[in-house]
Amino acid sequence: MKTYDLIVIGTGPGGYHAAIRGAQLGLKVLAVEAAEVGGVCLNVGCIPTKALLHAAETVHHLKGAEGFGLKAKPELDFNKLGAWRDGVVKKLTGGVAGLLKGNKVELLRGFARFRGPKEIEVNGEAYGAKSLIIATGSEPMPLKGFPFGEDVWDSTRALRVEEGIPKRLLVIGGGAVGLELGQIYHRLGSEVTLIEYMPEILPAGDKETAALLRKALEKEGLKVRTGTKAVGYEKKQDGLHVLLEAAQGGSQEEIVVDKILVAVGRRPRTEGLGLEKAGVKVDERGFIQVNARMETSAPGVYAIGDVARPPLLAHKAMKEGLVAAENAAGKNALFDFQVPSVVYTGPEWAGVGLTEEEAEKAGYKVKVGKFPFSASGRALTLGAAEGLIKVVGDEETDLLLGVFMVGPQAGELIAEATLALEMGATVSDLGLTIHPHPTLSEGLMEAAEALHKQAIHILNR
Ligand SMILES: Cc1cc2nc3c(=O)[nH]c(=O)nc-3n(C[C@H](O)[C@H](O)[C@H](O)COP(=O)(O)OP(=O)(O)OC[C@H]3O[C@@H](n4cnc5c(N)ncnc54)[C@H](O)[C@@H]3O)c2cc1C
Repeated sequence: MKTYDLIVIGTGPGGYHAAIRGAQLGLKVLAVEAAEVGGVCLNVGCIPTKALLHAAETVHHLKGAEGFGLKAKPELDFNKLGAWRDGVVKKLTGGVAGLLKGNKVELLRGFARFRGPKEIEVNGEAYGAKSLIIATGSEPMPLKGFPFGEDVWDSTRALRVEEGIPKRLLVIGGGAVGLELGQIYHRLGSEVTLIEYMPEILPAGDKETAALLRKALEKEGLKVRTGTKAVGYEKKQDGLHVLLEAAQGGSQEEIVVDKILVAVGRRPRTEGLGLEKAGVKVDERGFIQVNARMETSAPGVYAIGDVARPPLLAHKAMKEGLVAAENAAGKNALFDFQVPSVVYTGPEWAGVGLTEEEAEKAGYKVKVGKFPFSASGRALTLGAAEGLIKVVGDEETDLLLGVFMVGPQAGELIAEATLALEMGATVSDLGLTIHPHPTLSEGLMEAAEALHKQAIHILNR
């Protein structure tokens, strides 16, 4: 049996971070991958969706540019778009393979399953290690009444825009994936209806900024129906007749579309892995149970990323990979970090830390400061003055607790807020920091100032 210091199962964001950090710390590492290097994020997740969003936004911006005199009739070649998207993915996955090689991580293609606590089998061969890191990720969650197929797409199928843009698309699910793909299709020419079971889109985030994003999407022409569930559908000559129902039951309605995208969440991927042979326990939702060191119930076996626990985000998986690898190398690392989240629609939505409701529940005396992008000089020069930044703080200690925003470049701006939270910044610290003018980032400083009723570019009430 070939043996290693560390075996990493899966080369998504979590797995390749763990493998590289393990190698940096002097471990002999084997990484096993059943499909494509780079996992979901690089191949069928973050990267291809962001590439398509950029293309769709460029088309959209051209239309908006008439306001300053730019007249253009964009014509999009979907085959070229698909090829460009694939090129971006290939460049990045090739980069990861190169990094693994450069760090002397051995890459083995095949499906890994446990034979015992410290032993796996791949393509009929046995491999053993002192430590193992499970980074097998997640897969689209199916929805009852909507089995995936030709007419009912998962997110991976929806990425293939070159295979045709449906005239009418129903998106089921108002999370990041549904919103991003819904906007891509709307901007590329589909009539899009998006339904969300909960009373507001992005149910896990700040309600006010989520509502602003919903309104922006509606203004653009997407039909968003909250508090609504899809019960089932029937294929008829004129399309797919989908039965919608109020979330609490009662009123029903039928809509007719050409394709349905199911984006109701993802589930951890552990099937066929033989976790029981390793003594690795899962919880009732199928996630592998881990502690803050990313250790599972089996000594020396770690789990990270989507297979371990929500939130199902690439940067969370990456950091967990570093923590697990450092512990496998004998260090004592803990996952104790703020995890920002971003929706890459136009406008973008981003948040980190506690929402007002969560902060109140945790016992803080909550105070909020807001700054609208309509008062931002930079946002106006970009023709993107939609949205606001909201800072949540503790009135008694002035501690910064959370930041939520909807607007241009929110995903970039949230990194500063995340650093502020990591460093235990007060709201005053944010307000005192000189931000370059004119930039969107000034909004963060002004929102902090607004919390103390001292913002300059808005009236403080
Ligand atoms: C459409 C879409 C858009 C997204 N956009 C974003 C975004 O913008 N930002 C963000 O943070 N997150 C985004 N995500 C989520 C992000 O992709 C995941 O959180 C991230 O990929 C999780 O990384 P991971 O390493 O846990 O697993 P994965 O990326 O799922 O990788 C797991 C890997 O393990 C391999 N594997 C599984 N089982 C085995 C086995 N038994 N043997 C060998 N190999 C195995 C798989 O083939 C896969 O390559 C998006 C997801 C989707 C679907």
